[in-house]
Amino acid sequence: MSTFIQIEGISKHFGDFVAVDQVNLEIQQGEFFSILGGSGCGKTTLLRMLAGFEQPTAGRILIDGQDLTGIPAHRRPVNMMFQSYALFPHMTVERNVGYGLKQEHVPKDEIRDRVARVLDLVQMGELAKRKPHQLSGGQCQRVALARALVKRPKVLLLDEPMAALDKKLRENTQFELADIQERTGITFVLVTHDQEEAMMLSSRIAVMDQGRFTQIGSPSQIYEYPQNRFTAEFIGTINSFEGRISRVENDRIEVELQALGKEVMAPAHRGLKQGDTVWLAVRPEKIWISREQPEGDGQTVVTGTVDDQGYFGNLSLYRVRLPGGQVVQVSAQNRVRSSERSIDWDDTVHIHWDIESTVVLDQ
Ligand code: ATP
Repeated sequence: MSTFIQIEGISKHFGDFVAVDQVNLEIQQGEFFSILGGSGCGKTTLLRMLAGFEQPTAGRILIDGQDLTGIPAHRRPVNMMFQSYALFPHMTVERNVGYGLKQEHVPKDEIRDRVARVLDLVQMGELAKRKPHQLSGGQCQRVALARALVKRPKVLLLDEPMAALDKKLRENTQFELADIQERTGITFVLVTHDQEEAMMLSSRIAVMDQGRFTQIGSPSQIYEYPQNRFTAEFIGTINSFEGRISRVENDRIEVELQALGKEVMAPAHRGLKQGDTVWLAVRPEKIWISREQPEGDGQTVVTGTVDDQGYFGNLSLYRVRLPGGQVVQVSAQNRVRSSERSIDWDDTVHIHWDIESTVVLDQ
């Protein structure tokens, strides 16, 4: 794979406000790349600069080696699928999809052919004669996708494409979108605030905060090996404990954690030294919970009280209060079938995790 989209030092200022701050990014051909971040972090602005709807204050964007500076939106090898879908209400599905090609004076026969093919791809062939008000939200989304794909862009930009769909439909549509991306081989760049969506669909994700990327990596790199507290806390749930390094060994550090009132071991990390402040972070599913004191080396064991618990069928979630007051979240798979709770409110429990499951963060 080669670099297909190259974003070099891109910034966007609105007056004094910096919406995108010197961002660099390389996206490979055929990738499904997501930009993930909370409201107002600058992700849509970045996407709009790729599309050509917004001009960068600084930096440049290249696609397939071509510098896009000064190239208007309609002449870029990209197409954007909008959050609102923006379908023409008075046109049928097929006319909506073919509209862009008609504007470009593509011959009629070719339009018919291409529209039919792309409607089959999104499984909307049978509804080609309907108008948008006769379609469900999910079907409108497919028409919008078909309309973006029919122009055969090199890059498809998607701005929160599932936002209007309910949870169940969103899950099914995500699988289909991933399938369509794979079949067409088009490079997809998706903007979303939904971390599950980004995790499920993407080859790589850039996590964005205040106009900058906090981390770029595969979904599992971002989830299992976050490089900073923002990324760790933005993706999924994580328990984090602040402490000070009291000792550094070869591959381990010893950290004094106030919340736990003791020293615990964690994996060493390049550049860390005695006296440094660090945060030890552990995901809820990496923690075991039991009423009996666990045995065995290589683990961190803490005792606390069950403050709250929730039964979700496949798993149970526990909130365990430590003597210092900090609450730790633990999730446990319900592997054994039972209608009785083995761990209940106010029980004294031992929670423990492998030293290797601890993420050490210093920023
Ligand atoms: P959301 O998920 O809410 O759409 P976002 O991450 O996509 O958020 P952007 O739309 O990129 O956010 O906006 C980033 C910041 O830039 C916001 O604080 C927004 O208010 C500001 N902004 C966007 N467009 C303009 C504009 N034309 N003029 C002034 N400020 C703007």
